[in-house]
Amino acid sequence: MSLALTLGTKNPGKLKEFEEMSRDCPWLELALAPADFDPEETGNTYIENAFIKARAAAEASGRLSAADDSGLEVDALEGRPGLYSARYSEGSDALGRAKLLKELEGQENRSARFVCAIVLCRPGSKEPVFQTEQYWTGRISLTEQGSQGFGFDPVFLPVEKDVTAAQISAKEKNLLSHRGQAWRQTLRFLEKNFINP
Ligand code: IMP
Repeated sequence: MSLALTLGTKNPGKLKEFEEMSRDCPWLELALAPADFDPEETGNTYIENAFIKARAAAEASGRLSAADDSGLEVDALEGRPGLYSARYSEGSDALGRAKLLKELEGQENRSARFVCAIVLCRPGSKEPVFQTEQYWTGRISLTEQGSQGFGFDPVFLPVEKDVTAAQISAKEKNLLSHRGQAWRQTLRFLEKNFINP
């Protein structure tokens, strides 16, 4: 028994990351969204944006689809960049990190968290089949450290570690991260409802 699932993204890097995180689920076949997938992320929450992408992928592919939406929330910035994390970086991850460190200069409260929402949607359905939102808590470092990962990883010190998210392996990051947790919940739902009901 296998399950074909379309991802609400056209980014091959994201497909690879989700395939890595699905290694223990040989029954799952992941595919990128078709070329005409181009939804506008107009939601007011991570769940709403993930739903918009999952629904668009389901309509475009005619298959059960999953999409994620994520961001970094910094307490001293009242939750910014949050939902707008991708845009905050102004086209370059390095610029985004420099801007964040600058905004937090002299700030003692450096607590932050990554958020990831994942939503499943069927073609024709107006409601999500499943949704989850998960968190990864930590602090923003004083300087950048490490070269693994992407985005804000080199300035994020997870609560479980004394090194940044860019100084741990992808495998270790997936075990702890907001996205890893949300995806594991999604896999459990898929297995329970479609593979071993
Ligand atoms: P999106 O989920 O593709 O919209 O991306 C949101 C943005 O949040 C990314 O472009 C990154 O700036 C940031 N972000 C989300 N998850 C992570 C992570 O695991 N590490 C580093 N940055 C992240």
